[in-house]
Amino acid sequence: MEIPLTHNAIIYTNPGTASLKITQVPTPSPGPGQVLIRLTHSGVCHSDHAVMTNSWRWLPGLTSHDQVGGHEGVGEVVKLGPDLVDSGYSKYNGPGIKIGDRVGIKWFASTCLHCLACMDSQEGSCFHPTISGYSVPGTFQEYVLAPANYVTPIPDGVPSDAAAPILCGGLTVYSAFHKARARAGEWVVISGAGGGLGSLACEIGSRGMGFRILGIDSAAKETLIRECGAEEFLPLDKFSRDPEGDKAMANEVMRITEGGAAAVLVCTSANAAYAQAVHFLRFCGTLVCVGITEGDEVPIRTVNPNMLIKLQLTVTASSVGNRKEAIEILNLVARGVVKPRFTLHKPAELGDIFARLEKGEILGRTVLSLDTESWK
Ligand SMILES: [Zn+2]
Ligand SMILES: [Zn+2]
Repeated sequence: MEIPLTHNAIIYTNPGTASLKITQVPTPSPGPGQVLIRLTHSGVCHSDHAVMTNSWRWLPGLTSHDQVGGHEGVGEVVKLGPDLVDSGYSKYNGPGIKIGDRVGIKWFASTCLHCLACMDSQEGSCFHPTISGYSVPGTFQEYVLAPANYVTPIPDGVPSDAAAPILCGGLTVYSAFHKARARAGEWVVISGAGGGLGSLACEIGSRGMGFRILGIDSAAKETLIRECGAEEFLPLDKFSRDPEGDKAMANEVMRITEGGAAAVLVCTSANAAYAQAVHFLRFCGTLVCVGITEGDEVPIRTVNPNMLIKLQLTVTASSVGNRKEAIEILNLVARGVVKPRFTLHKPAELGDIFARLEKGEILGRTVLSLDTESWK
């Protein structure tokens, strides 16, 4: 396969503002330990919008000018670094990777594999990661470099477009359920159930892991949320945005779940959702923080120690997932248990997608097609 000298990419020309441009960038050559991937698809994630607009204060610094964004990439290995052998090893058994393998890129382009988090199989919290589309060029382009030991093999039964949102959103919620301490058959509330993370959480939690899902979001998203496997739904619009409304919503959750949910996954970036969530829990319940809030960081209000003590509640958090979980969740898709909902778009539509993401108008996930035709 002929590799061009330059290729199409979407860059953030003026981070801090909505500033996208399609341009040509040099196609790099893989260094030691790296592979060059010809991307065919990239998911679009709320995190990409946050990186472009510099709205996540917890990232170590401001986004670089002309950064290539994107972190849910799928494509084919087209060139190996000088030290890698085009081996025929099993993809699941050691470092064997060969030309033509279909692989995925995640939010963390690489992790150190040596820090406390990595050694504890919590690579999603690695202290020294490189981040796709932020600290290294991301997946909104035709070719990308990646470390051979950190790409995720895509199983044969998973189409590349469906794999893209699984590599970040799917992995994130799958890993979060593992932190929820809930058992199959128990109620889990998904706050922000109709968004990119939430819709995957409904799908994976219900069909993939056997939880009873109660989805909460705006009324317009009810159909999608139920299609994704939520057994019950509460429309946010029904409740006033004040302490009275919060109380009424908690009462509804208590009624539906007959005494409270085993866990709540907050999959939205809304501070209000965190303030409500702890009141949805039953004895020994777990609140899992997943959605990263934007702008000024607000503490989770209404959590008080006496309540935690009385109900033996746990407040925990989850950040993406590890390599093994990525393979496990892709296998659930390969087996047809989980069917990610997404819409396919061209790269030129990214600005519009971001604008709708910001307003919370996107249903499910969006994926960009990156084949040559799509850029025209
Ligand atoms: Zn993401
Ligand atoms: Zn690490």
